[in-house]
Amino acid sequence: MALVTISGYPSAGKSTRVAQIQAYLQQRLDAEDYAGPKLSVEVLSDDVLNLERSVYNDSRSEKPARGALFTAMQRQMSTDKILIVDSLNYIKGFRYQMYCAAREMKLRVCTVHVVAAPDVCREWNANRKDGRTYSTETFENLIMRYEEPSSMVRWDSPLFSILWLDTEIPGEQIWDALTKGVVKPPNGAS
Ligand code: ADP
Repeated sequence: MALVTISGYPSAGKSTRVAQIQAYLQQRLDAEDYAGPKLSVEVLSDDVLNLERSVYNDSRSEKPARGALFTAMQRQMSTDKILIVDSLNYIKGFRYQMYCAAREMKLRVCTVHVVAAPDVCREWNANRKDGRTYSTETFENLIMRYEEPSSMVRWDSPLFSILWLDTEIPGEQIWDALTKGVVKPPNGAS
């Protein structure tokens, strides 16, 4: 039914935000006033595919990993599901491919940019205790190569940004974009 593409620096808090987004969407689907079709919310990530962070150490291992993510995404996309793809998704061309695959299936799409300053990510990466730390070299490399999403291009839009200090997520805006195709400006701005 819909595809949510996550993008952000390594250790920017993407998976943490994905958990919040998933919980929000699930709560809306479970709410009494929801009268739409029965949908599930699923997350596809490097972790789900058992891809270690070390696959990003060089392009020889990164390419097949990206291929595996894309194949899994194609297999899992469906009309009765909101699929959240939680990965770096830092290459513009890759996000374009994901967008095309989703649109081919007539799914609604949106992109969520999880934003944190490099220094914040660096600190969070160094302090990870889940065995998912990126090596220093890989981390710096990924930050350098990162291609920021832009609301000016159709494959990244609608685009929602969540900053590291944000206590709230734009849950309602994401919900409206996915279920109604409506994009409201954030925080009541016009
Ligand atoms: P990513 O999915 O981008 O790699 P994670 O969500 O896994 O990032 O978070 C990376 C690390 O940063 C984890 O150890 C997590 O606990 C920590 N972290 C994430 N968000 C915050 C936050 N808002 N404040 C402090 N630490 C955070």
